[in-house]
Amino acid sequence: APLVSLRGVGKRFANGTLALEGVDLDIAPGEFLSILGPSGCGKSTLLRLIAGLAEPSAGRVAWAPGHEERRREIGFVFQDPTLMPWATALDNVRLPLRLAGLPRAEGEARAAAALARVGLAGFERAWPRELSGGMRMRVSIARALVTRPSLLLMDEPFAALDELTRHRLNDDLLALWAESGITVVFVTHSVFESVYLSTRIAVMAARPGRVAAELRQDGAPAPR
Ligand code: ADP
Ligand code: ADP
Repeated sequence: APLVSLRGVGKRFANGTLALEGVDLDIAPGEFLSILGPSGCGKSTLLRLIAGLAEPSAGRVAWAPGHEERRREIGFVFQDPTLMPWATALDNVRLPLRLAGLPRAEGEARAAAALARVGLAGFERAWPRELSGGMRMRVSIARALVTRPSLLLMDEPFAALDELTRHRLNDDLLALWAESGITVVFVTHSVFESVYLSTRIAVMAARPGRVAAELRQDGAPAPR
């Protein structure tokens, strides 16, 4: 059964813009789904609806039974890592656990493990300004993973990074996905990225935003 299932989903904003219409989409557990489409076709809106950060104006977004507490199920990564500049890498990653009331020692241990997982062991005490763009993105991914979500939503995460950094991050994300079993929904306007990364691609078209085609890539991408 799908982890999340969208049926007839539409979104019309208060100003009348019809951002999405008639979207049917299932997100299978463990898949790496790319959502590919041009600017303005509704990719971010779709991600926000999946995350429950916005409500659809038509249709429904349903989670599999036992997964209804979506806030805990989701990690979100944006293009802008939005780290707190006055907090170390470790404290940035630890924040969601502090908000959840986890004891400090356990939070620190889990945050350190999450940093190690994204290749930043040894950078626990670094300040965001000391880190490169790629490394700040890694901290942001660690922060999204530290709560152990079942679904990782990524909104054009690497679009602002240089090509080499982006390529390394693609490879490391793929390895992380393969070893963890996490479900990933990855929004991009890069055909290359969607083909390189995903087990399935939902291609969107604009006006109104909709899923125009789905491509399944058999034999899932293999990390190096
Ligand atoms: P994408 O992520 O594919 O670039 P978006 O989901 O950001 O697309 O936007 C889809 C459409 O909805 C665009 O036309 C955008 O201008 C419009 N839109 C997005 N957010 C709002 C909003 N809060 N109010 C009105 N229109 C919006
Ligand atoms: P960059 O934006 O610097 O290219 P990447 O995301 O490509 O960063 O980094 C790849 C790996 O290289 C990181 O996981 C990190 O462990 C290591 N790394 C990057 N920059 C540095 C640095 N300034 N000092 C030490 N290690 C670094």
